[in-house]
Amino acid sequence: MSILNFIRNLLQIKGYRVKGFTFHNRFKELWLEVKPYKNGAQCPHCGRRGKIIRTLVTPRTWRDVPVCGRLVFLVYCPREIKCKAHGRVQESIPWAAPYSRVTLRFEYALLTYCAMMTQKAAAQLLHISQSTLSDILHRTITSAREGHRIRGLRHIGIDEISYCKGRKYATIVYDLERSCVLWIGKGKGRETIDRFFADHLSRYQRKQISAACCDMGQAYIGAIEYWCPNATLILDRFHVVKALNAAVDEVRKEQWREADKEGKVTLKGLRWLLYTHPSRRDKDDVKRLKSLYMNGNRRIHRAWVLSDEFEQFWDLKDQAVAKEFLGNWCKTANMSRLEPIKKFVKTVKKHEHRLIPFVELGLTNAVAEGLNRIIKIVKNRASGFRTLEAFSDMIFLTIGDLDIPGQIPPASRTI
Ligand SMILES: [Zn+2]
Repeated sequence: MSILNFIRNLLQIKGYRVKGFTFHNRFKELWLEVKPYKNGAQCPHCGRRGKIIRTLVTPRTWRDVPVCGRLVFLVYCPREIKCKAHGRVQESIPWAAPYSRVTLRFEYALLTYCAMMTQKAAAQLLHISQSTLSDILHRTITSAREGHRIRGLRHIGIDEISYCKGRKYATIVYDLERSCVLWIGKGKGRETIDRFFADHLSRYQRKQISAACCDMGQAYIGAIEYWCPNATLILDRFHVVKALNAAVDEVRKEQWREADKEGKVTLKGLRWLLYTHPSRRDKDDVKRLKSLYMNGNRRIHRAWVLSDEFEQFWDLKDQAVAKEFLGNWCKTANMSRLEPIKKFVKTVKKHEHRLIPFVELGLTNAVAEGLNRIIKIVKNRASGFRTLEAFSDMIFLTIGDLDIPGQIPPASRTI
């Protein structure tokens, strides 16, 4: 085996030939002179063969995946061709995307690493700066998603996410059946979500949507009712539970303000205990909550009992039973003489018809919650995002509706 063939086999170079190599030991670099296999040159826009006009004098370099700590560069002088449709263009390069400074294999490695680890770690592995990495990431993801269309959407979920340390908001649209993210748009108002329905879905596609899930805000509810005539609207479980927890916390705060020094000691540390899901409380927690009744803090105790009872709603399986349950719960809650809880009852009554279908389509919300959790992990891993572009790049890469590394040709998928 010749040394050139050895290098070609070692680096698994497909579709092009190695003509020579140079080691630059001082910079720990390996320069490979390469040449495409095929003799003809193709147009990068339409793939048609064109007449070769000239070969560029100065060679172009492409960054490849580093090997054993050495940076690898491919060097080649591309030819200029004349395409019948596109005129004078530089020939298409089999190992890299048009105008790219890195190889397709490098892009694949970058996408795979970024999906697994922080961008800082990925940049270290690939021996590039973090800003270059995020630039390449953004360009690769944008070009992979270009022209991509949404298909087969039946269950839709809409939610808001925050970025830039919670100062800015974006609207995120999920496909709840395939559990993936379809779209992310700046802002959280009606005009943002209208943009999604108007620009990204056809009239037929909007009619095909049979279930939709969102929070209690009027913007998303209004948009779904306007754009999806056949959709059953279900309120997101997460947001309903959050509203109830806020009501219980309001009761706790009231009591805290009224309590004397001794009373405050008994109330200390209650906040998180009240938030904890019943299944995650241990014996001591329950004992403590029950002791509230004896210690004279009956209002907090009553709020806690009510919120625990409401939790049963999510396990119901029949719409008629669910309706009866909600009616009974609201009646009891209204008699509690707790203002924040009464306010929550009003919300429940207003949205009753949007809560009850949950018992039969329960799965939809669980998916949205799961996706929310992944988004949180992505956000925490990067210690937050300053721009929406960077945040949406990572969301589309990890849970987008398009397999982005899968868009790179199989021959270039070796790391
Ligand atoms: Zn062309």
